[in-house]
Amino acid sequence: MAKISFSKEALEGNLVPDGLYELRLEGFEPKFSKDKTSVNLNPVLKVVNNPNMSLNGKRIFDNMNSGASWIIEAFVHAMGLKLEPNAQGGGDLPGEFPDNGQDDPEKWPPYQGPLLGQVAEAMVKKTTYNGKENSKIDQWLCALGNDCNTKHPAGLAK
Ligand SMILES: [Zn+2]
Repeated sequence: MAKISFSKEALEGNLVPDGLYELRLEGFEPKFSKDKTSVNLNPVLKVVNNPNMSLNGKRIFDNMNSGASWIIEAFVHAMGLKLEPNAQGGGDLPGEFPDNGQDDPEKWPPYQGPLLGQVAEAMVKKTTYNGKENSKIDQWLCALGNDCNTKHPAGLAK
């Protein structure tokens, strides 16, 4: 018989007061989107350096779908990095999930790259979905200053 389990985080919820947070990237938990045409990167983002000590270590959820390049670019810039130009004239997420021949992202080895351990600033906002309240990323704050002329999105938390 299979056990149906819920993580401590899922049961406690992840509500934090709306506002500006510093978030550290501890990894990704990539999964196919429902229709399997894209990948939800599910970055593991934890609150750090918060004056309210009880908030430090809280995870802020964001599915970060691979189809939303403009959101991923904003996230990478907030981490102080840039997309890496690729041969097709576009950009790649810095770092990689080492290739092990698996198509299923849940079976990929852990992400390796310069984003790990980086800290970004983000506006976090409470949302309600199916009657459940969650704190989500509303806006990533670009850390590149004059080095960036991309207009990043706001109002992401829905
Ligand atoms: Zn930027």
